[in-house]
Amino acid sequence: MKTAIYPGSFDPVTYGHIDIIDRAAKIFDHVTVGVLSNQSKKPLFTVAERVDMLREIVRDLPNVDVTSFSGLLVDFARACNSQVVIRGLRAITDFEYELQMSQTNRIMNPDLDTVFFTTDLKYSYLSSSTVREVAYFHGDISAFVPPLVEQEMLKKFSDQK
Ligand code: ADP
Repeated sequence: MKTAIYPGSFDPVTYGHIDIIDRAAKIFDHVTVGVLSNQSKKPLFTVAERVDMLREIVRDLPNVDVTSFSGLLVDFARACNSQVVIRGLRAITDFEYELQMSQTNRIMNPDLDTVFFTTDLKYSYLSSSTVREVAYFHGDISAFVPPLVEQEMLKKFSDQK
C-alpha cells in the first residue's frame, strides 16, 4: 500500500491545500495530512483546532486521515510507514526552499522522496498568511477558505471589532 504524508502548517487550511489533498488522494492508497506543531511560530489556530478543521473537511475522503506531529519530518514519515512526502508548488519562489527541504530529507533518509503537485492556477496566489491578513482587517475570505474555516476565522478576530 502506498501511503503519502502531506505536512504543513495549515494555519488556516485553504482551498489551495484542499485541492492538493483531493488530487493526492486519487493517486495514493492513503494520505496522512500532518499538521506541524512548530514551537518557533506563533500560530493563529492551535494545532488541535487545525486538526479538527481539517478532519471535518476531509471527512468524505475515506483514504485520508489527519494528525499532528512535531520534530523532524523524516521521523514523522517513518512513524507513518511512508516513503513519500507531498508538497505543493505555487511559484518559483516556493521552489528553492522546497528543493532544499527535499534534499535535506533525502540525506537523512534516502528512501524518502518528495512529490510536488503544481498548484491549480486558480489557487496559485493563495497562501495562509494572506488569508490571515485579509481576515485580520475583516475582509471577505470566502473565496479562499471553506465556510467552516471562515466561521472560525471570524470568531478569532471578532473581539477586535
Ligand atoms: P508550510 O508552513 O509547511 O509551508 P503551509 O500550510 O503553508 O505549510 O503549506 C503546506 C504545503 O501546501 C506547502 O507545500 C505549500 O507549498 C502548499 N500550498 C500552500 N498553499 C498552496 C496553494 N494555494 N496551492 C498549492 N499548494 C499550496
